[in-house]
Amino acid sequence: MTSAATIPAHGGTGGRTAVAARARQVVKAYGTGETRVVALDHVDVDIDRGRFTAIMGPSGSGKSTLMHCLAGLDTVTSGQIFVADTEITGLKDKKLTRLRRDRIGFIFQAFNLLPTLSALENITLPMDIAGRKPDREWLSRVVDTVGLSGRLAHRPNQLSGGQQQRVAVARALAARPEIIFGDEPTGNLDSRAGAEVLGFLRQSVDELGQTIVMVTHDPVAASYADRVLYLADGRIVDEMHSPTADQVLDRMLLFSGGRPQATDVDASGRTS
Ligand code: ADP
Repeated sequence: MTSAATIPAHGGTGGRTAVAARARQVVKAYGTGETRVVALDHVDVDIDRGRFTAIMGPSGSGKSTLMHCLAGLDTVTSGQIFVADTEITGLKDKKLTRLRRDRIGFIFQAFNLLPTLSALENITLPMDIAGRKPDREWLSRVVDTVGLSGRLAHRPNQLSGGQQQRVAVARALAARPEIIFGDEPTGNLDSRAGAEVLGFLRQSVDELGQTIVMVTHDPVAASYADRVLYLADGRIVDEMHSPTADQVLDRMLLFSGGRPQATDVDASGRTS
């Protein structure tokens, strides 16, 4: 017999397929006519279940747009998005809201904790709102893994920035969503607190089987991921698997035309 403790089940429907989310020929355009901006240009991507994916690319390359479309926070102009086997493009607002609430977790740069609630109350709030009872065993495992056991009664202002973000991560994990999306989740933290949160995200993938997709500018943050996707001008132009921070940095520098002082590299990337 299998138990929930040995095989993490993420969400309800479709939780066992190998692909947690898919984009198929996704186009996202803003505006019309001369002001039309194509933020995503026929993007195809599969997000693997139980893995940690980072999305990188220069500012304006479409990272946030891709994440928002995958998470059902934004609509696409054309193409399809699936969460597991459910096509979310074309879902009516109410169904989409319910799908996001039941199957997707979010961690934003601003921790979005309620100041008057304790850490524990913040963690269980989304489930309380949804009228779902937290699985006590799972909750204590999440709290232990995040290292918050001694601080559950604290209010956010009694916690450091790193601890507050760990509360936000625990809040996302507590409901056992199929995917957690993070938008620069360590963007507001100093490097030590950032490392603490990233280490925890990594651990939740390795030990709890969580699927995570994170947008980041930071090569060190990206080095925690299993897979790094690179966007440029609304397209996925490259990817790396389990890279080091230096490898990510080198890749970024290559895309931006070389190290600033490398005047011997021309626009096509050839050295003279
Ligand atoms: P990134 O996250 O990589 O910085 P974005 O996804 O935010 O990039 O943006 C991609 C492109 O879409 C940019 O050119 C941006 O200016 C444009 N864009 C994003 N959101 C909007 C919006 N709400 N209205 C108009 N243009 C937008």
